[in-house]
Amino acid sequence: MAGIYIHIPFCKQACHYCNFHFTTSLRRKNELIAALLREIGIQSNYLAQEPVETIYFGGGTPSLLEAGDCQSLISSIKDFHPVTKNCEITIETNPDDISDERLQCWKAAGINRLSIGIQSFLDEDLKWMNRAHTAKQGLESLELALAHFENITADLIYGSPFLSDPQWQKNVEKLISLQVPHISCYALTVEPQTPLYKLIRQQHSPDIDSGKQARQFLLLMDWMEKAGYEHYEISNFSKPGFRSKHNSAYWEGKKYLGLGPSAHSFDGQSRQWNIANNNTYIRSVNLDIIPFEKEILTASQQVNEYIMISLRTSGGLHLNKLEAAIRERLVQESRSYIEQGLLINDQGILKLTKQGKLMADGIASAFFEG
Ligand code: SF4
Repeated sequence: MAGIYIHIPFCKQACHYCNFHFTTSLRRKNELIAALLREIGIQSNYLAQEPVETIYFGGGTPSLLEAGDCQSLISSIKDFHPVTKNCEITIETNPDDISDERLQCWKAAGINRLSIGIQSFLDEDLKWMNRAHTAKQGLESLELALAHFENITADLIYGSPFLSDPQWQKNVEKLISLQVPHISCYALTVEPQTPLYKLIRQQHSPDIDSGKQARQFLLLMDWMEKAGYEHYEISNFSKPGFRSKHNSAYWEGKKYLGLGPSAHSFDGQSRQWNIANNNTYIRSVNLDIIPFEKEILTASQQVNEYIMISLRTSGGLHLNKLEAAIRERLVQESRSYIEQGLLINDQGILKLTKQGKLMADGIASAFFEG
């Protein structure tokens, strides 16, 4: 089983914290869709005809596409790949793009899962992030979406300077009370080259308080647990039966094909990523050349990926999946984390505790090979 990711590199405006590949100029949108359709054909052998069980429109802002564009992309994928009957087809959306008409069109195009970038129900917070929508639009779009789609996920961001603990609780409780079946929560990070990085460096914005982020993450885990959500990956919570199949496939090491500028693909042994430049992408694909770079994963890299990903998921790190020497090293090295209450060894499966989840990347990299 495999997945397909389609990157739509357009946004109405640039959120201050964002470091994804996108442009706010929509001038070449139609040419880019045409190039995507062409890339589907050129890359049709990448998945070696494995059944496709998930399709994911990400970005950028895929909800800026016309419903007809989604429909053409989905039917072209179906022309070139065996797509399973219950294929999960997700589109990332922003609240200001959601309308009754659009929701109906997405459904008619075959989309069966909506991801909504709510981020916050606090206007001050949204403004500081430079989001294109208001808190009111966020709430209304969610209510509207829930009337059309059962399988919905909403994103929230915590740890920003204006988000107090009580407001954070209100944000989370709003989604819980609306019975949103899947919620992704991300700690605000300040990436180099982003407007937020510059604003903080020039002292035009308060810096991020890592202590507050940690506290809000711990609070979040308690609230979600009480509300009956499974914390199945560091940033992801779901009601039973509503895990993201697409993201779960990444974490399970399944193959996926990424289409569009900056999209990544994985075939089991190697990873490749398309150029993150719309003009070069369109020009090359029109010459039947995919502009990508490729890396063949060494045995150590494969082990390190497994360590990093498995520790982030509720399934944990299965020591018996590793070679004996690595397994013994990890048993030794995990002892101090277990003593500190950051990790447990549950019959040969290493799992992070709530406190350990605050340091997931650090603990994983301490276990790395090489
Ligand atoms: S809408 Fe999404 S992709 Fe676009 S700038 Fe904002 S966070 Fe980034």
